[in-house]
Amino acid sequence: MKVKACQLCGAERCEVIVDGATRSGPWAYMCVDCHKEAGYGLGIGRGQMYKLDPTTNEYVRVPDEIRGTRQTVTQPSTNNAPLNPRG
Ligand SMILES: [Zn+2]
Repeated sequence: MKVKACQLCGAERCEVIVDGATRSGPWAYMCVDCHKEAGYGLGIGRGQMYKLDPTTNEYVRVPDEIRGTRQTVTQPSTNNAPLNPRG
């Protein structure tokens, strides 16, 4: 994928570019800063992160497992209190 610049602020040769939806709807290539401001998030239907490969000068897709943003959600324990102690 060849991207010249962030389509929002015009920054060139950003190390990371996000091809994703903006909060106003249309998709755009965004630098990380713009994605924080205007992006809709990452994931299917939201956005995909690309990293600049300096050897080829092209952006390559960053797999989810490398991106490291997949966090394990800890479930809050809500079953501690008895529902109806008197029956
Ligand atoms: Zn930008």
